[in-house]
Amino acid sequence: MDNASGRKILIIEDESDVTDLLEMGLRKAGFKTSAAVDGASGLQKARDDRPDFIILDLMLPKMSGLEVCRILKGDVATAHIPVLMLTAKAEEVDRIVGLEFGADDYVTKPFSPREVMLRIRAILRRGEKPQETLQAGPISIDPARHQVRVSGKRVHLTSLEFKLLRTLMQRRGRVQDRDKLLNDVWGYESVIDTRTVDTHVRRLREKLGKAGDAIETVRGFGYRLREE
Ligand code: CA
Repeated sequence: MDNASGRKILIIEDESDVTDLLEMGLRKAGFKTSAAVDGASGLQKARDDRPDFIILDLMLPKMSGLEVCRILKGDVATAHIPVLMLTAKAEEVDRIVGLEFGADDYVTKPFSPREVMLRIRAILRRGEKPQETLQAGPISIDPARHQVRVSGKRVHLTSLEFKLLRTLMQRRGRVQDRDKLLNDVWGYESVIDTRTVDTHVRRLREKLGKAGDAIETVRGFGYRLREE
């Protein structure tokens, strides 16, 4: 019923009246809060304190909210922490919440504390639900167990191959360029050559056998998992 119960929420916001408003509402709802006033210190706090949730303003001094979000979501230590972005304008929300920056949701300023609370609860609930099995033709993935099957038969993948396949399946039908795959699957500002992606895709296809044909090469760009 209540998913607040002492969970820590970090607020990264330079406008103190917004922070005050949020802190008041969140504490009343049973959350613990901490705050940072710029991007760099917010990032540091997220790494040190490992909060359960982050409310992140888009326009911040020192480092933008988007940059903070991208770094958080690209770091295995913090990638799991849900991020709710606060934005002053509704522009570019697709990119914010979408895969480029990885935020879990956003609210547009000015917002009501109630609206923020509802979003937070919804995101936290989502995290508690068991992950659903992904299916694409004969390929099925059980994300919770890290198991992949083709026509019911277990296929053993490395964790990178697994992440790669899961990413392609989640974004089925959409072309993923190599840089984006590197960033999302390998999970950091990679110095690895984008050809690494090609190598892993090739191995993944081999392991999937005929079902691997569903992974299409989009020449000069990247890869896509074919829709039915
Ligand atoms: Ca701001």
